Amino acid sequence: MLNSRVAEVVRHAVDTGALGAEQPVAGFVDVEGVRSSVAALHAAFGPGVLHTFAAKAASLVPVLRLLATEGMGCEVASPGELRIALDAGFDPAKIVFDSPAKTRQELAQALELGIAVNADNLAELRRIDGLRRDDCASVVGLRVNPQVGTGSIGAMSTATATSKFGVALRDPGAREAVVEAFVRRPWLTRLHAHVGSQGCPLELIAAGIAETYLLAEEINATLGRRQITSLDIGGGLPVNFTDERETPTFADYVRVLGEAVPGLFDGRYELITEFGRSLLAKNGFIGALVEYTKDAGGRRIAITHAGAQVATRTVLMPGAWPLRVDAFDAKGRPKQGPLLAQDVAGPCCFAGDVVAHARELPELEEGDFVVLHDTGAYYFSTPWAYNSLPYPAVHGFTTDGGQVRLATVRQAQTLDEIAAMSGLAHAGALV
Ligand SMILES: *Cc1c(COP(=O)(O)O)cnc(C)c1O
Repeated sequence: MLNSRVAEVVRHAVDTGALGAEQPVAGFVDVEGVRSSVAALHAAFGPGVLHTFAAKAASLVPVLRLLATEGMGCEVASPGELRIALDAGFDPAKIVFDSPAKTRQELAQALELGIAVNADNLAELRRIDGLRRDDCASVVGLRVNPQVGTGSIGAMSTATATSKFGVALRDPGAREAVVEAFVRRPWLTRLHAHVGSQGCPLELIAAGIAETYLLAEEINATLGRRQITSLDIGGGLPVNFTDERETPTFADYVRVLGEAVPGLFDGRYELITEFGRSLLAKNGFIGALVEYTKDAGGRRIAITHAGAQVATRTVLMPGAWPLRVDAFDAKGRPKQGPLLAQDVAGPCCFAGDVVAHARELPELEEGDFVVLHDTGAYYFSTPWAYNSLPYPAVHGFTTDGGQVRLATVRQAQTLDEIAAMSGLAHAGALV
């Protein structure tokens, strides 16, 4: 089933040239959809929870500013993400800095700005000991890995026994070392766990948060004071990529959390979340021109301008990251007609650059368009520079009263920008 608003936007984009021969691939963000997803998140958790958006899921300043104006904070994991979060206008008090590789300089800057820092490990805490001044406004937390297990996509599972993230709680001596870290640091007041992501069942994520909650209770009991005052429960709500339905919902997740961790919502701990994919994935799509069609070995192939550069995970791990694809004609109208199994391929020069294999679609022709649905997070916003393909333009859209409006979020990268990024200023450096 095709979302009628997507069809209206594709039609409008083709009519106005936002999608066409000059702009053969572009990303589109549903502004009203983003607002309603944020509202659903706030409604599900109720008041008093700081929801930070994981910047890596849609690292575009206008998108971040939209989220800031809707009352969200921002989770950043690199100096670049911190920079764009500040440019987007997030209050530093609503920014959380996570990363397993924070440098001394990055830590000093975050502590200076009063940004919350979640240390990934005990060595990082020791660095913070040397950098943190007594009047520092930053909340400092420690990330733990409850080691509750793996979901269906190994690369998305952060709570495995050997995950690179956080202090591995079930390792010998680790729990005692974490308790000791809090005993010695009265300013260490938060525990952080981001248990999993796409492919992890809600119960697994909730089990990890339950472990984290019990650890906080244990630490506060050992200290005889409520030193841990907040819990950052991470993001990771999985997204349904198989059809239009938004499932699981934030409300489903809150229900599962409430069952697994009865004390979590009783107000004793301030809560912070870090959702990314679940807020943006279904609020964006990619449109791409069909440049050629051909047959090979009995297979029909449509060569489009959307491949691994904008759908990297889908192309490299097609089993784990399938996308819904729809066909549109040269005027941007949904294509009708008998279905034909076709490969929807991209422009990159490697054989695996196919976003959908043997997909049943109305027969595609040169000049048609394809839409890759649910690509609002981690797709067009984080393109891959392979083949020196340009970053695509990104547009926000609204459809007030049937009137489609597009707003530029990012222009497509120009050839001059590509040359500059490719060392043009140092062209003679090696001869
Ligand atoms: C990536 C990430 C998130 C967001 O994950 P989603 O699956 O997009 O919700 C949250 N917290 C941390 C620490 C992350 O690395």
